[in-house]
Amino acid sequence: MKIIMLGAPGAGKGTYAKKLKEIYGLSHISTGDLLRDAISKETNEGLEAKKLIEQGELVPDEMIAELLKEKIKEIEGGIILDGFPRTIKQAEILNGITNIHSVLKFDVTEETVLRRLGGRLTCKNCGEIFHKTNIPPKEEGICDKCQGELFIREDDTKETILNRLKTYREQTAPLEDYYNNLEILKAIDSNLDINDPEIQTMNECQKVLDEIKNNM
Ligand code: AMP
Repeated sequence: MKIIMLGAPGAGKGTYAKKLKEIYGLSHISTGDLLRDAISKETNEGLEAKKLIEQGELVPDEMIAELLKEKIKEIEGGIILDGFPRTIKQAEILNGITNIHSVLKFDVTEETVLRRLGGRLTCKNCGEIFHKTNIPPKEEGICDKCQGELFIREDDTKETILNRLKTYREQTAPLEDYYNNLEILKAIDSNLDINDPEIQTMNECQKVLDEIKNNM
């Protein structure tokens, strides 16, 4: 199955993608991770992307589509796309690459985004996501999974977060109507935190993926 995670920064796309990929045996492609990898390797794409990411802007459609195409070639089986598409143009490019079964749209308030991204910690090595108060690592500064070093992303500062939200509203939110019109959009309330005892958000995601699995 092929799934898109759609939602504002901090909506939980990466966090739930990582959980769902384990349960359903899917490959998780995060275009943000592809870009951060390109930046750390100082490739041409990485150098071009760095400034834009730090300003909370999107990188050019063609560049990110090329990176995605390269990655998809390596993968067999189901995929969770996290952070792609982010524009209508990217959705159109994606139509030429693969078929999408469902788009999970993670609904969050601006207040939730600021609270979450304000305390987000990311593993330098495996990309696992923690939060200073909501999902604290067992040992401060160290990833529970791989013992990698945790860091605060450079685009997780308040000013950049506000610009990323603006970018989402202007360039990515139109995808909600785009996929709604194709009748594959499922809205998920993602204001609850991942460690909420009701794990309602996770249940809602699993309901959608179970239905797809049963119809395959
Ligand atoms: P993310 O890790 O998904 O929050 O992405 C971090 C940043 O990478 C975004 O704020 C954008 O600057 C850039 N980025 C990631 N995916 C895309 C995409 N599909 N199109 C354009 N820019 C992207």
